[in-house]
Amino acid sequence: MKETVVSGIRPTGQLHLGNYFGAVTNFVKMQYDYNCYFFIADLHSLTTHPTPQDLHGYVRHVLVEYLACGIDPEQSTIYIQSDVPEVAELYLYLNMNAYMGELERSTSFKDKVRSQPDNVNAGLLTYPTLMAADILIHKAVKVPVGKDQEQHLEMTRTFGNRFNRLYHADYFPEAFAFSYAQQLVKVPGLDGKGKMSKSGGDSNCIYLADSPEAIRKKMSRAVTDGGPTVENQAKPEAIQNLFDLMKIVSSADTLAHFDGLYNQMAIRYGDFKKQLAEDMILFNSPIRERIEELSKDTDYLRKVARHGAEKARESARKTISDVRSLIGFKAF
Ligand code: AMP
Repeated sequence: MKETVVSGIRPTGQLHLGNYFGAVTNFVKMQYDYNCYFFIADLHSLTTHPTPQDLHGYVRHVLVEYLACGIDPEQSTIYIQSDVPEVAELYLYLNMNAYMGELERSTSFKDKVRSQPDNVNAGLLTYPTLMAADILIHKAVKVPVGKDQEQHLEMTRTFGNRFNRLYHADYFPEAFAFSYAQQLVKVPGLDGKGKMSKSGGDSNCIYLADSPEAIRKKMSRAVTDGGPTVENQAKPEAIQNLFDLMKIVSSADTLAHFDGLYNQMAIRYGDFKKQLAEDMILFNSPIRERIEELSKDTDYLRKVARHGAEKARESARKTISDVRSLIGFKAF
């Protein structure tokens, strides 16, 4: 029996190279080794009140882009969270045994209270119980998330174990964070500061769907500096970030060539960024073409979403039926 893995992504727009190299590329590989559920977390995204058009558009982007990257809807289960109402039902049950104190102590909740004081809704407070429901609904044991999610996973284990104790059942297994890749890749952004992230704005990200023109334009504006002033000097963050990007998308020879020029103080950033742009375009092209094809094929997308929802509901229904019976909801 393959172990069950669950991973969700909040639909907030298009996927960028960070999402690709940091997550999706591993999903594509891991789908052959595990029983994978990949869902688009549209219920979670309601905490920020997206418009119906934006919500639908973002969900569609993620579905199209997951498929374009190679997530195979036959090999794994790819579904939209709101298509599986059993998740919301389990969320309700888990909320009955989730305590205010522990929810309020969650770091992500405290961050949100600080960053959006005008919209501290109950959905934000109970984000960890919805995440626990996402995982426990399939009785998953592995969740491919980074360190920042460790606290949520611990809460998932707490809620599952608490349920087990309350109903004297050894029902929910414990889920742990895991990393499929040997080494976690951190993809830097183009603004010279830290990782590629939507929160840094569109100019900080290369999206999988970006056209060659868009990539050239963004790369030409990527932050650099006045150039090296001594031979073999350490690279400042903005320059190191661009070299890190080159390491990901370019050949080893290209990287060595520009590294050599930098060390000899002979680098011209214009040429360097042009080369990086062309290599990104080469890398992106097959995925972008697939995104364009799939975006036009609404029939296929509908089929994939339905098929995924059916498979996810099959697993979710079984869990909910067991849970209802354990709780004491029994038919007369
Ligand atoms: P986000 O869209 O920021 O919620 O990210 C979704 C997933 O993509 C995260 O869980 C990360 O695994 C991955 N990810 C996002 N940005 C990066 C990045 N710059 N480098 C590596 N992985 C990333």
